[in-house]
Amino acid sequence: MNKIKKNDTVYVLAGRDRGKTGRVFMVMPKKSRALVEGVNYIKKHTRKTQAEQQGGIVQKESPIQLSNLTLFCKNCNKPARIGVSTLTDGSKSRYCKRCKEVI
Ligand SMILES: [Zn+2]
Repeated sequence: MNKIKKNDTVYVLAGRDRGKTGRVFMVMPKKSRALVEGVNYIKKHTRKTQAEQQGGIVQKESPIQLSNLTLFCKNCNKPARIGVSTLTDGSKSRYCKRCKEVI
């Protein structure tokens, strides 16, 4: 089961942006990557074209490996250790093992 979903707040465990947190705005399960707001920004130089008069530098998030991300518990203000519990109706819910807050 993939624990990270769209709109989750995640903590970056590894890479250039280690220690940052951000909101997931796209998950790419086939590539095992996700796009996270403000994380793994890349600068792209664009050329002047007819369509774009200005050219210059565009900043854009690039996908980060899911294995480098973990869910962040806003309650603890720390990366969460996630537990999964099965509810009486059979659906699964994720919670923080530290404070028992449902994420
Ligand atoms: Zn917590």
